[in-house]
Amino acid sequence: MIYPATETYIQRAAQAIKQGNVVAFPTETVYGLGANALNAEAVAKIFEIKQRPYFDPLIVHVDSRDMVQEVVATLPDIALRCMEAFWPGPLTLVLPKSTIIPEIVTAGLDTVAVRMPQHQVAQKLIQASGVPIAAPSANPFGYLSPTTANHVASQLGDKVEIILDGGQCPVGVESTIIKIEKDSITLLRHGGIPVEDIEAVAGKISVIRHTQVEAPGQLPYHYAPKTKIVLINDISKIPDDSSCGAILYQKRDLSFKNIHVMYLSDNGDLRQAAANLFTCLHALDAMRLSVIYAEAIPEVGLGQAIMDRLNKAQARHS
Ligand code: AMP
Ligand code: MG
Repeated sequence: MIYPATETYIQRAAQAIKQGNVVAFPTETVYGLGANALNAEAVAKIFEIKQRPYFDPLIVHVDSRDMVQEVVATLPDIALRCMEAFWPGPLTLVLPKSTIIPEIVTAGLDTVAVRMPQHQVAQKLIQASGVPIAAPSANPFGYLSPTTANHVASQLGDKVEIILDGGQCPVGVESTIIKIEKDSITLLRHGGIPVEDIEAVAGKISVIRHTQVEAPGQLPYHYAPKTKIVLINDISKIPDDSSCGAILYQKRDLSFKNIHVMYLSDNGDLRQAAANLFTCLHALDAMRLSVIYAEAIPEVGLGQAIMDRLNKAQARHS
């Protein structure tokens, strides 16, 4: 059930976490499905609810430096600099794990993904729970990520007792994930912090070796609606058909009369586009159209995260 994210309900959700249960809560990226990261049985419930394959590791959410120290084995200088620059915020660091993190969280890897969220409700929930919270997005595996409490309720409502409602997620796409080794950084997923910004901070000591996403990005598709998605560069080629939908980058004068059009932004603002991406996809997907056309957007800054999600969504039906 959906509850407002007031102190009372945050406390109640924290109680559920402490008891080994799973709750849904807002973060600045997307809504998460959280459990005590130190309790393997509680974490197993997340995989069951999401139908998530066990080879796909989870991100551990922390609220303090002390908590980071507990979950990682080492904190290299590059990591400290990234934390200083981007935490709290949508950047996840993959680092050698400490022994208190159960294998189920990391899918057996000797590294752990860790992030300090910026959203007040997420921070308060971790604080009140007193433990790191393992949380993937609160959606069935492979489907669109939720950016409102209603998205969570309509997909997992019968499986999650507490959904804290903190309104629409301000960033709207998942965190950027980087793996930090001795003196190198590898990008594992594009997300809420543009790669260019990380490079500016991690500077000379860091090298981005490749931009390939590790598991589960190796899967052919992810982040996909049920409706077929077709990416398109030239929007004049989109048919004006009432059985179709279109997601366009920015508002403009169009001669479309029948097709269902939604705009990611007013004037081509990538931040606004990222924040609206999953909301637009959810809305059009609910209309049971035959196809949703998505306009290709510039692959710079946050545009890389948006295009990554659209490409993976398109791949589901191709
Ligand atoms: P999600 O929380 O659903 O957005 O997914 C988190 C993603 O983080 C996973 O799909 C992995 O790709 C990545 N991840 C988590 N832990 C690790 C790790 N130890 N090594 C590499 N990637 C990881
Ligand atoms: Mg996810």
